[in-house]
Amino acid sequence: MVEFNKQHIAPNQQKYVLDALEKGELGGDGFYSKKAVEKLSSILGHGRVLLTPSASHALELAFWRLDASDEVIIPAYNFPSAANAVLRAGGRVVLCDIDPETQNLDPEKAAELVTPNTKAICLTHYAGIACDMDAFKALAKQHGIILVEDAAHAIGSFYKGKPLGSIGESGCYSFHATKNISCGEGGAFVYNGGQNGFDTAAIRRDNGTNRAEFLKRNVPFYAWEDIGTSHLMPELCAAMLFAQLEEMENISRARLNLCAEYREGLAPLFAREALFAMGVPEYAQGNGHIYYVRFDSEGQRDTAKDALAEKGIMAQTHFVPLHMGGMGARLGYKKGQFPHSEKTAETLLRLPVHTALGGRCVEEICDVIAGCFL
Ligand SMILES: *Cc1c(COP(=O)(O)O)cnc(C)c1O
Repeated sequence: MVEFNKQHIAPNQQKYVLDALEKGELGGDGFYSKKAVEKLSSILGHGRVLLTPSASHALELAFWRLDASDEVIIPAYNFPSAANAVLRAGGRVVLCDIDPETQNLDPEKAAELVTPNTKAICLTHYAGIACDMDAFKALAKQHGIILVEDAAHAIGSFYKGKPLGSIGESGCYSFHATKNISCGEGGAFVYNGGQNGFDTAAIRRDNGTNRAEFLKRNVPFYAWEDIGTSHLMPELCAAMLFAQLEEMENISRARLNLCAEYREGLAPLFAREALFAMGVPEYAQGNGHIYYVRFDSEGQRDTAKDALAEKGIMAQTHFVPLHMGGMGARLGYKKGQFPHSEKTAETLLRLPVHTALGGRCVEEICDVIAGCFL
């Protein structure tokens, strides 16, 4: 049996979790939460980071309040979190098609959707491969639009050497069990704007109180200052997260090595255009989060998926485009509206990538896929 994904076991995670239990401060912002924030700060180059229970919660902090006329452009090929966050904040979701090379938001298509009401663009770095940030930064500057990075796939990835999550006004990481760095359920909100915006987000995350200032002994007590909620990561998760972050480079390296093996093993099929390789632009340095291939048709993709499953190898399709579900229909979208997103959903297959994948697994997987084209 070759599993699709397996959580990495960081050498220190058990020790830190037990230590956190012994320390006994199990709420948010404890000892290991601070350690994890320090680690993330060293990756990002600044300390405006808040741990959250998930990337979805981080996206809610990024889109806290929108006017009913505010529009946010979101890729149709995406997980629902960012779109949910925009609707919960009171804004409008404007779906946009992707670039079929990278499965990332297409800057030209996004530009066509900009109106005077466009408030933000949500950029999902699919598979940990950067969006075309210079193009989006130019668009954002021209129209006074905010960029929010849904960096759920993208911790440890870069755009022209800059960490993903550190480029937009805010960046949102996921530490869900299926992601590169995992503490079961978890996330982080990164604010790349000024201190004031960060302080506001910190108050919102902490039940609308200035408890953070109180803990720093800047104020004698804390009070209800704004509308907020409790979006803190529990200390036990933070203890595991810190151990995982210590391993980030090793995890990325191991996963990138597997991706390179796939690329090499499947090269003859790419050369024949039997299969299409994942696009990795010059500006992007990935983290090996996902290795995917695209087939010519849904039928071919499903045949390969079934052939792999017969050998006990779990490969997976990915997102159902946001306009294709009931919610997309309620927002007025129709099938056929975003052809690249639909084609990707029909033809993309994710192959197993995780740090416990050993031996000749990749070779075997490449052989099974090649066998579908004999
Ligand atoms: C996994 C994922 C999320 C949600 O992450 P959670 O931490 O589970 O909330 C959001 N966006 C994308 C692109 C994802 O893949």
